[in-house]
Amino acid sequence: MIDTHCHIYDAKAFPNPDHTIQDAIEAGVKKLIAIGIDSDSSALAVSLAEKYEAVFATVGWHPTHARDFRSTKIGALRDWLQHSKVVGLGEIGFDFHWDFSTPAEQEVCFREQFELALELGSPMVYHCREAMPHMLSLLDKLPRAKAVFHCFSGNAEEAQRVLNLGGYLGVDGPLTYPKAVELREIIQGAPRDRVLIETDAPYLPPQKFRGKPNSPALVSHVLAKLAEIWEVTLAEADRITTANAYALFPKLSTK
Ligand SMILES: [Zn+2]
Repeated sequence: MIDTHCHIYDAKAFPNPDHTIQDAIEAGVKKLIAIGIDSDSSALAVSLAEKYEAVFATVGWHPTHARDFRSTKIGALRDWLQHSKVVGLGEIGFDFHWDFSTPAEQEVCFREQFELALELGSPMVYHCREAMPHMLSLLDKLPRAKAVFHCFSGNAEEAQRVLNLGGYLGVDGPLTYPKAVELREIIQGAPRDRVLIETDAPYLPPQKFRGKPNSPALVSHVLAKLAEIWEVTLAEADRITTANAYALFPKLSTK
């Protein structure tokens, strides 16, 4: 398994990354991607990738941090994206749930990073919360790019638009939640070569662990739910989602 989205540099949730990573490996996780959300977290994600063979990183500015983003930050992202273990740019996007950055600040932050990713051919990790119509109509006007909608939370029509754009659907703990009937239907009908598994740890634990911090080892619960929905064996769901992770993030094959 590959946990394609986690925040293991969060020292409060993961005071001992040695243990977190070891637990994940023992649970069958071969690789995990630590996702940056601003300068500091991107630097931490890269340093974990340098320290641990199983860890890879993305770098980028999350929409809730867009207020602190400046065009001058692009140079650092550009440099990091040359690193052999920095597999993509993200998470970037729009978040209209939280009020930390204005929509205008989020748009500048998104567009500048999107242009950089296009220029470098880097895959992107999109964060989109309560902003799906806005983000999709913006993407419709931009060139096609390789990206995953991390923790996809749209409706069936929006899922189809993501797929039409060539995007991947990232699924995590919410796939296991009793209320997520529509999400499970969308994933059941989605092309199997466009679905990625992730945890978003320490957030969004699977149903059995709700109320506790999530960790990359628990990505197996997301995979198990996916196998159940697709009516395939665990091994088959693992084979498919692992191949999808390599397809979107080619640098994951870096030693
Ligand atoms: Zn995240």
